[in-house]
Amino acid sequence: MKFGTKAIHAGIKPDPSTGAIMTPIFQTSTYVQRSPGDHQGYEYSRTQNPTRAALQENIAALENGKFGLCFSSGMAAIDAIVKLLNPGDEVISTSDLYGGTYRIFTKVFQRFGIKFHFVPMDELDLIAAKVNDKTKMIWVETPTNPMMQIVDIRKVAGLAKEKGLLLAVDNTFATPFLQNPLDLGADIVMHSVTKYLAGHSDVVMGAIVVNDAKLAEDLAFLQNSCGGVPGPQDCFLVLRGIKTLHLRMERHSQNGKTIAAFLKNHPKVEKVFWPGFEDHPNHRIAASQMRDFGGMISFTLKGDKLADAIKLMENLKLFSLAESLGGVESLCGHPATMTHASIPKSEREKVGLTDSLIRLSVGIEDAEDLKNDMATAMNAI
Ligand SMILES: *Cc1c(COP(=O)(O)O)cnc(C)c1O
Repeated sequence: MKFGTKAIHAGIKPDPSTGAIMTPIFQTSTYVQRSPGDHQGYEYSRTQNPTRAALQENIAALENGKFGLCFSSGMAAIDAIVKLLNPGDEVISTSDLYGGTYRIFTKVFQRFGIKFHFVPMDELDLIAAKVNDKTKMIWVETPTNPMMQIVDIRKVAGLAKEKGLLLAVDNTFATPFLQNPLDLGADIVMHSVTKYLAGHSDVVMGAIVVNDAKLAEDLAFLQNSCGGVPGPQDCFLVLRGIKTLHLRMERHSQNGKTIAAFLKNHPKVEKVFWPGFEDHPNHRIAASQMRDFGGMISFTLKGDKLADAIKLMENLKLFSLAESLGGVESLCGHPATMTHASIPKSEREKVGLTDSLIRLSVGIEDAEDLKNDMATAMNAI
């Protein structure tokens, strides 16, 4: 089956008791057993729930994986993945990383004796240099947030295989429509479902997809033991959202291209970070592992003044100033004062995250209106 067909049909069967074409919201904590142990595959909703089961199967199919597991948030999914490890183990991670991931690694799991190394992943040698006999996992985010750098998943997977390490990829920015890390050699793919998969800024959820049965069993054990599971209503909302994922991603990518080109030609813009540009330093890798380039764009202003960036964001009407991304509506954010405020200015600026850097999550509105909104706001500075 092709992607759009899977988005609509994978994991979905008419309800056997009524014929309801939509998976019901099984708002139940427990399930009646005929005799002890004689049940229909469901005992308690932390362990299994039919609405969640349908969603897990659907997301697994979209990632070309065998096993899917959903969690109460993207962070709960990351939490489960790191809990595959033991005290003393080491992880090598991309350095340009989602702030919450950096926080759980350094402020939570480091206390439990797991060590994290953060390296830029454009050179395999930089990763290889950190591998020792305690290294167990490589953590990759691509495209990175907010600098939109691309990590070559195939290459890193080759190294992980050679050294016997697990490779986990946070695929939130790309979505399974644009990129399938398992097909490129990753062992674990993780999503903040909150973003593009749910797609309507109304749910917080996470997901993991794997192919290996033992890994799936260990993650299901953690999912049930630690208990960070999503409720059935949220699973229903995500099942509904995913049915249009392919259409939304096509439009996000198309609008992303239009807005990126508009910004690149604008006299007040210094630099635009979008992997679809042929002069993006990782464009070739992006084109080889992604089907399109998506709607996430970062850019800086000439003169790099904080006041100009603030004025621009205050004057945007269709791009709402808010955290998060991946919804149907366009958002703008300011990494230096919002998501990445905890990183010292000197560290931020080393990776290009300067005071005027603005991140856009380009929505699926009409591109002409988005362009006009941006043009009007630019006139205010
Ligand atoms: C939002 C996000 C997360 C965390 O997910 P939540 O659903 O907010 O817990 C992890 N990684 C990336 C890339 C994200 O954008």
